[in-house]
Amino acid sequence: MKKRVAILGSTGSIGKQALDVIREFSDKFEVEVLTANNNIELLIKQAQEFVPNTVVIANESKYNELSAALASLPIKVYAGSDAVSQVVEMDTIDIVLAAMVGFSGLIPTINAIKAKKTIALANKETLVVAGELIRNLAIENKTNILPVDSEHSAIFQCLVGEGNNAIEKVYLTASGGPFRGKDSQFLKNVTPEMALKHPNWDMGAKITIDSATLMNKGFEAIEARWLFDLKPEQIDIIVHPQSIVHSLVQFEDGSIKAQMGLPDMKLPIVYALNFPFRFKSGFQRFNFMDYPELSFEKPDLESFKTLSLAFSAMEKGGNMPCILNAANEIAVNAFLKSKIGFLDITDFILKSMDRLSYIKNPSLDELIKTDLETRRYCETLL
Ligand code: MG
Repeated sequence: MKKRVAILGSTGSIGKQALDVIREFSDKFEVEVLTANNNIELLIKQAQEFVPNTVVIANESKYNELSAALASLPIKVYAGSDAVSQVVEMDTIDIVLAAMVGFSGLIPTINAIKAKKTIALANKETLVVAGELIRNLAIENKTNILPVDSEHSAIFQCLVGEGNNAIEKVYLTASGGPFRGKDSQFLKNVTPEMALKHPNWDMGAKITIDSATLMNKGFEAIEARWLFDLKPEQIDIIVHPQSIVHSLVQFEDGSIKAQMGLPDMKLPIVYALNFPFRFKSGFQRFNFMDYPELSFEKPDLESFKTLSLAFSAMEKGGNMPCILNAANEIAVNAFLKSKIGFLDITDFILKSMDRLSYIKNPSLDELIKTDLETRRYCETLL
């Protein structure tokens, strides 16, 4: 029987690559649900090709256009963010690929866990904002959360077969982004165009900027904490410019396992969708002679302060990572529109973490409120 997949965020970078994978392995998977935020042209094309049971557009003003375009096909069409959150509960879904951007992934992911769906998680912000809550919910509902983020997929793959063997340390690798080796004098003047040119990975705009500031790696540390039940001091960041070693796990005997491969998101996507099995694929193979040297260096915490801010939010816990995330979302968006400079992103986050009230054990409602209040505060900074 084919695995029936719901893709939340099908028009984003991960969503599109997931559909490439499903097209390639169409005898194994079938698309049950597609949702998108705004990109109706692409959503229509995807729906026409894959003919899912249901399609949802979050932007309600586009409902009529979407509905008319798909009228001749046996596809149910809905609109609105509530519909995105509810559609994950459908009986006919086997696995939910959460590939939306930012805070918007939180509520649909929570609903999918409550509906006991297996989650392939690409939306790291969900774990940044509400990691502890999500973890407890997943345990309560006996739901598997399978990482799609390449670093976390690497750690996950290193842990296969390890049973109860304890992790001593995890090394998350970072490419260093487009501004590796640059100082704050240089960073002050970088433009969105410069920041959007990632050396190794082809990704969406938001995560590409997060990679340029190194915030992405800070988020990934928080994500790793909750996915693998780690303490902050068990997580280390190591810059590895070639992006071939995707991350490493050190066990208590001192042995280290690494997972390697060419930087291609299709690998972690198909691993999560098909876990615990591996498919024979036609993906490009790694050639050692193309990479005679793999190098590793320390991250530059002086020029890239967001990484330290993320670690401090992780150590503080409570609603602090939620504040970190909301401030970052507003600041990155403003930077992409050239309303603020590159280093102002750090400034927005620093001010928000200072200004917003800290809650040690926030409920979901308190996290939603924290998110809103942080966004409002950042709007006043603009
Ligand atoms: Mg990653």
